[in-house]
Amino acid sequence: MAESKVRKATEPTPAAKTVAVKAKKPESQLAMVRRARKINRELALLYPYAHPELDFESPFELLVATVLSAQTTDLRVNQTTPALFAKYPTPVAMAGANPEELEELIRPTGFFRNKAKSLLGLSTMIRDEFGGEVPGTLEQLVRLPGVGRKTANVVLGNAFGVPGITVDTHFGRLVRRFGWTQEEDPVAVETAVAEIFPKSEWTMLSHRVIFHGRRVCHARKPACGACGIASLCPSYGAGETDPEKARALLKYELGGQPGQRLRPPAGFPGRAAPPAQPQGQEQPQAPEQGQGQEQPQAPEQGQGQEGERE
Ligand code: SF4
Repeated sequence: MAESKVRKATEPTPAAKTVAVKAKKPESQLAMVRRARKINRELALLYPYAHPELDFESPFELLVATVLSAQTTDLRVNQTTPALFAKYPTPVAMAGANPEELEELIRPTGFFRNKAKSLLGLSTMIRDEFGGEVPGTLEQLVRLPGVGRKTANVVLGNAFGVPGITVDTHFGRLVRRFGWTQEEDPVAVETAVAEIFPKSEWTMLSHRVIFHGRRVCHARKPACGACGIASLCPSYGAGETDPEKARALLKYELGGQPGQRLRPPAGFPGRAAPPAQPQGQEQPQAPEQGQGQEQPQAPEQGQGQEGERE
């Protein structure tokens, strides 16, 4: 999309201005669906560059990166995977990895023993049962050790072009704030949202909502006064409404900070993330600037003690 058509996320869109939500009037299901689709359209204008925030070049790299992203930031994963993929570029190579060496390489992402077990298990199954290629169906993907429905949908949507809804902590929080559903269970959220939108929208809708959650509609301090969809949101006022104070809460490219990807895709208006610090200078568990307010999410089935993700 041409840059001139990209609206700043802090500006209410013309359509948003004309569809004020009357909070006290009960909303019909039809009105909610119309409003939800309008929010999606407005988010598409606000974030025409929305994308997965994990660096990857193949389905296998995306699968591994998504497993590693449990209970840490995409930035930390992106800083960790270049050395990992240099050493183990394929499922066959990773299946033959020395467990201790693998653990050491992924240690910065936390929960490295469980994650190493998952990576060895899924690589071995891909090598032995799927001819060395990451399978391309939900049913097959969730059979892999450490791979739950969320991870499978990320891989399907972004590596195979199969529409999928990614219900992570941001997506669940925002759709409840939007009033699309009050379900807490990720599968129930996925089902409810799938009924509102056509399949063709599922993958990009997920990116847009997650982008908005990471940048504007934070868990603890949503920047309502700087939110481009404020007049479409029944939760307006859950956070700071003063425009100037709200603008100070914006993150990543909207706050003038680096993004999470070391190799952002073309069209991303912000700066690339910094590479990993040399060993010894790293502060493993310190949240990145702008990420400390993100809430962890529930563990994925099959990930044991891990699974929460920032
Ligand atoms: S809660 Fe506030 S920041 Fe979040 S979408 Fe609604 S108006 Fe925007």
